[in-house]
Amino acid sequence: MKLLKLLYCYWWALLPLAACAQGPPPPAVLLVPAAVFDGQDLHPGWAVLVEGNKIVAAGPAAQVMAPAGARTLALPGLTLLPGLIEGHSHLLLHPYNEASWDDQVLQEPLALRVARATVHARRTLLAGFTTARDLGTEGAGYADVGLKQAIDEGIVPGPRLLVATRALVATGSYGPRLGAVDELPRGAQEADGVDGIVRAVREQIGHGADVVKVYADYRWGPGGTATPTFSLEELTLIVQTARSAGRGVVAHASTAEGMRRAALAGVETIEHGDGGTPEVFRLMKQRGVALCPTVAATDAIAQYKGWQKGPEPAPERVLAKRRAVRAAVQAGVTLVVGGDVGVFPHGDNARELELLVQDCGLAPLQVLRAATAGNAQVFHLADRGRIAPGLLADLVAVAGDPTQHVEALRQVQLVMKGGVPYKQP
Ligand SMILES: [Zn+2]
Repeated sequence: MKLLKLLYCYWWALLPLAACAQGPPPPAVLLVPAAVFDGQDLHPGWAVLVEGNKIVAAGPAAQVMAPAGARTLALPGLTLLPGLIEGHSHLLLHPYNEASWDDQVLQEPLALRVARATVHARRTLLAGFTTARDLGTEGAGYADVGLKQAIDEGIVPGPRLLVATRALVATGSYGPRLGAVDELPRGAQEADGVDGIVRAVREQIGHGADVVKVYADYRWGPGGTATPTFSLEELTLIVQTARSAGRGVVAHASTAEGMRRAALAGVETIEHGDGGTPEVFRLMKQRGVALCPTVAATDAIAQYKGWQKGPEPAPERVLAKRRAVRAAVQAGVTLVVGGDVGVFPHGDNARELELLVQDCGLAPLQVLRAATAGNAQVFHLADRGRIAPGLLADLVAVAGDPTQHVEALRQVQLVMKGGVPYKQP
């Protein structure tokens, strides 16, 4: 049995997408890149020693001593960084220019959606994103919990996941639009009032939610405008119920009032934030609420609606997003890096970082810090996000220097998760 397992692991190790979570720990590996970005700064001439699934040493190459039998992996011309952390994905969705959200929720069988999700997970990992916060299955129930388990057990390659399961919406506010139809599958779990909300939060946590996602507003206003959904009291109850079980709450909100209520209720992050005013961003700063602007999703949707990217001015929604990011940064709000991947292709996660630099005026270094150490801190992941002894050996190497040119993140040459290489030069 043991031999079989070993053979199984060895066989897979021969494949370029080696994936074996079980089995013997890999021998110590000394990684010698041109430079190391440790989550904070760039250090030319550093080396990193990995043993088992952990980083055991990082520093100037001459000072990092490899034990006897360690393998040296030279990575000339490459920058080694902590595995990137995707802040907002939907592995159970695929791009809306392939199939509308309604069609995915109403017509695609669950098995099809899960099969796709396994491919999405692999693409995410190979793009250098070794952790993802997946914010809702959009009608696929608790499939994210099973997907996470399959990844953790080494059945399919993918990032470490934080999952939100079904997400919470106020009755009537979310899609698919009911219209005259009495019963349609819902894209998230409807819950209202004290009893309904407490029960729904606990159900989701019981099924495996790592975070609770709530829609604080949605496009259910007159003419399809976004308006608030839950009351401040309801949102506060969601946060209290989740927090008592050790879970944080993330809120979808794009209106100033939805954002205000979510921030006052004590959510940890606000997703989108398009309509944030200087007052709301000041409130978020005061209450320690981070913003995940999802610039890439807005950009992608504008293109699906016919915007030929390039000539300015961009459509108003794109401009509003850029203004919101700038206002949030000016107010000192912490930025979470997450693109709402799924709206655009999984594996194209770097698009969010590129747009934060190219369209929103952030420095590459600022964006890289946010996508590694920053996201880890906001998501309470003390075991990753930086390159330092004792942390998980989730490492990525890219050609060039991404702290100067964010586009270098497209040139992923090495992906290691927990010391196991999934891609290497
Ligand atoms: Zn989303």
